[in-house]
Amino acid sequence: MRILVIADIHANLHALEAVLKDAKNTYDVVWCLGDLVGYGPYPNKCLQIVGSLPEYICISGNHDYAAVAKMDLSTFNPIAYQALHWTQNTLTTESYDFLEKIESTVYTNSVTLTHGSPNNPLWEYITDTDIANQNFPNIRGKLCLVGHTHIPSVFSHDGIQCNEIRISNTQPINLLERQYILNPGSVGQPRDQNPLAAYGILDLAELTWQQRRVSYDIRATQDQMTIKQLPEELIIRLSFGI
Ligand code: ZN
Repeated sequence: MRILVIADIHANLHALEAVLKDAKNTYDVVWCLGDLVGYGPYPNKCLQIVGSLPEYICISGNHDYAAVAKMDLSTFNPIAYQALHWTQNTLTTESYDFLEKIESTVYTNSVTLTHGSPNNPLWEYITDTDIANQNFPNIRGKLCLVGHTHIPSVFSHDGIQCNEIRISNTQPINLLERQYILNPGSVGQPRDQNPLAAYGILDLAELTWQQRRVSYDIRATQDQMTIKQLPEELIIRLSFGI
């Protein structure tokens, strides 16, 4: 089974559509690692699309939790707060119901899916080997998929030590070590100085992970953010992937 792994769409419709077009015919099912909304201008359309994907599994991120009042908005910085406040007022009843139902962690096909980390599904950022190392003992199965950092990354554990693996966008990684934490990066708001939308393809039969990037109409998303009067910092950062 080939899985299209997407995370941190953040209501960026044009990025989501570009990813789905780019990945077409290379996956069987879709797993979405949370933060479908927040920051971006198209929360309802993005939720509609994800909800119609083949055999999708979707988990909740911190922004999704906050959008349906499962979490206090005051825990967010002022810019995220402003965008979440706008999102709350924009969600349709269908969108609200969708977000309210999804869990923060799912275990399926021997893979753990969570937004932040197994230790703290909604808030922890797995940014380095120290943090990854603390999480490996709590991973169910061989593989754990995370989002939240908006930076593609791969951490492995061979049973003795934890390593970070350099990612190539062309060569799939063979998942030969004992355990892995895989982060596909962000569809809708990349933060690795690369503005291209990011996603991953996990092949559970071949046991490979491929990181991919694709360009999208950044300007169209930015124009819509301007119309919706979303914070300028959020509009600018999309141009630079920061
Ligand atoms: Zn996010």
